[in-house]
Amino acid sequence: MSLLEDARAVVENGPVCDACLGRQFADRSFGLTNAERGAALRVSVELDDDEPHEDVATDDCWVCEGLCATFDEWAERAVAALSGDGESDVDFATYQVGTRAPPLVEENEALLRESAGLTEGGEPFKSEFNREVGKRVGELTGTDVDFERPDVLFVLDIDDESVDAQVNPAFVYGRYRKRSREIPQTEWPCRECNGTGRRGGEPCIHCDGTGYMYEESVEQLVSPPILRAMEGDDSSFHGAGREDIDAKMLGTGRPFVVEVKHPRDRFPDVDALEAEINESTEKVEVEGLRLAAYDMVERVKELDASKTYRARVAFDEPVDETEFEAALAELDGATIEQDTPKRVSHRRAAKTRVREAYAVSGELEDETHATVEIHGEGGLYIKELVSSDEGWTTPSLAGLLGTPCHVTELDVLAVEGEAESFEDPDYFREAPAER
Ligand SMILES: [Zn+2]
Ligand SMILES: [Zn+2]
Repeated sequence: MSLLEDARAVVENGPVCDACLGRQFADRSFGLTNAERGAALRVSVELDDDEPHEDVATDDCWVCEGLCATFDEWAERAVAALSGDGESDVDFATYQVGTRAPPLVEENEALLRESAGLTEGGEPFKSEFNREVGKRVGELTGTDVDFERPDVLFVLDIDDESVDAQVNPAFVYGRYRKRSREIPQTEWPCRECNGTGRRGGEPCIHCDGTGYMYEESVEQLVSPPILRAMEGDDSSFHGAGREDIDAKMLGTGRPFVVEVKHPRDRFPDVDALEAEINESTEKVEVEGLRLAAYDMVERVKELDASKTYRARVAFDEPVDETEFEAALAELDGATIEQDTPKRVSHRRAAKTRVREAYAVSGELEDETHATVEIHGEGGLYIKELVSSDEGWTTPSLAGLLGTPCHVTELDVLAVEGEAESFEDPDYFREAPAER
């Protein structure tokens, strides 16, 4: 059958509105709305048959029952769904629209196609609804559609006459330095009271009723200002690994991402935030704060990173300069074999790991103390590289010097991607230009 014959078959199954007529031929002539396509087909059939022109009001359409005239109304309803709770409006730059189509309309459409003998082409009702309402949401708000990872997903429930607006999290990336040996990276709820601060109706004695094992953490110093600025409901802190509580994180800092759930302001002034955080505490300092895309969380958590450490080391017996330099030269660039350290073997299955010590250098302070700097592959155990862990790590500083060695202080100076930088431009976001 020709296009004109197919269109005639639909018109004869009327009344069918222009949009519902055009939608059955949606794969023809790109660049038209279904309503424009339908109007043109109707006129073509009328010209071919030399019949007078007759408009079909959308309200009279038995397929969509008038719904194809409600795109504007639904777009306004969608936008209102983000400001209807009396709180401040939710800001967003990208969106997507999904539609729960009424089963009756889907049945009508199937019936129309069957009685008109249409077997291919066309587009489902809900896909037109998503597109037409989406277009209008974009025009009303000056935002862009994003099918991958929109800031907001509007789900239109047509039968229920309601819109559910799902606001996706927003992300801020940065690097932190931790200048304290007394705070952990993330908040640490008390095990005894499960973070409630109370046991058996009394304040928990284990945590002094605070609910936390440590009063402060990097997370507790960094996340709240970000959460406040973004006007979110909750936040999570994701670090590129973590240092021990008693280790400082210095140098270029450790990459992290703060994830803010249900943000109302997705594009805060990150420079102002950085200044606010740094003025609020001496213990933690942040640098390079930037708005990040959602996949930065996975990058920060999973990108293979090398680390640079500075260790203060004490020797049980005196060591001279020549022995010390010779031992460091052996370790510099060495491949290290480490059985799972004794201190963690109770919680990790024992196995041997092989890691590179990319660069090792150091300075003797006196005959029983030294400072050693180690740039190592991710996963290299530093305390054991120094102490030998009773021979479980080889080679080791203690093994090479022939005297017991202990790390008395350990700081992290840098956390860097092994093959690529954490700060790949693809993983950042810019605030949209003023709209
Ligand atoms: Zn219709
Ligand atoms: Zn407690």
